[in-house]
Amino acid sequence: MATIAFIGLGNMGGPMAKNLLKVGHTVTAFDLSDSALADVVSAGATAASSALAACEGAGVVITMLPAGKHVSAVYLGDEGLLVHLPPGTLALDASTIDSGTAKTVAIAANNAGIHFMDTPVSGGVAAAAAGTLAFMCGGSADAFALAQPILAGMGNPDKIFHAGPSGAGQVAKAANNMLLAIHMIGTCEALAMGAANGLEPAVLSEIMKASSGNNWSLQVYNPWPDVMPTAPASNDYKPGFMVDLMVKDLGLARDVASSSGVDNKMGQLALALYEAHQAQGNGAMDFSSVLDLVRPSGE
Ligand code: NAD
Repeated sequence: MATIAFIGLGNMGGPMAKNLLKVGHTVTAFDLSDSALADVVSAGATAASSALAACEGAGVVITMLPAGKHVSAVYLGDEGLLVHLPPGTLALDASTIDSGTAKTVAIAANNAGIHFMDTPVSGGVAAAAAGTLAFMCGGSADAFALAQPILAGMGNPDKIFHAGPSGAGQVAKAANNMLLAIHMIGTCEALAMGAANGLEPAVLSEIMKASSGNNWSLQVYNPWPDVMPTAPASNDYKPGFMVDLMVKDLGLARDVASSSGVDNKMGQLALALYEAHQAQGNGAMDFSSVLDLVRPSGE
């Protein structure tokens, strides 16, 4: 079992740290939020007064932070972890950030003899709590071999992928969430069109699930209220996965596409639609609430 420093104990990081405790790892934790830290300490973690203090004696560091600027601040510069961690430390950043920052941190880590991987996740808060997250990892094969048994404490071992070199995990995450946004909007349009023409959304959903329109949104995350009791749509669109985060991820996808000469028209249209939905005050709603943007008003 490993001694792990866990930094960033929010909606995702909190349950992930708790799952590491459950499988027997020792966890020292730090978050800027006292309440987030207290929650994980109540599950058996030791509280640290700073990110650096959390790393004392740890062989593994895991960060789960909002965006690239937070990851840079924690790892880089004179105050950052990389100049203080002993060579041979394994550092895993599970945050969803831009691949450029992931590569910059990886180069600095490599220069300091530290194994760094970008390891963003898919699955959301429910999978974080259940310990069934998917991980998409960018970095060396050696680092991946070290990371696998640690990540298995928080995710489904069959869904831990080595996407490629540093930054590849973040590119995979951006590609996946761009596709998710597009098929969610498409699913909403298809259901709205059917309902506006007299079809029952539940019946149309079954037809499309058995036909070539089948997709993940239909299978486990139906956006129409009361078709699927477990979906956020049947719980007033309580997230789940917030519109604000989808906008962030589609911005990352736009940047990956434009920096590599890819014309992602559908991804950019999805970003524009989610931004319009966000501007109507829906940023904290689940992303499947984008149905409201496409169905006739008053329905
Ligand atoms: P969150 O805002 O709930 O948690 C982030 C935590 O980081 C907060 O508790 C904050 O206090 C802490 N933090 C910020 N800067 C810090 C610092 N310098 N030192 C220590 N702690 C610091 O966010 P979340 O929902 O847990 O998401 C974390 C990451 O996971 C994001 O990149 C997000 O895009 C990604 N993600 C989220 C979901 C989801 O469904 N929520 C799903 C997949 C991926």
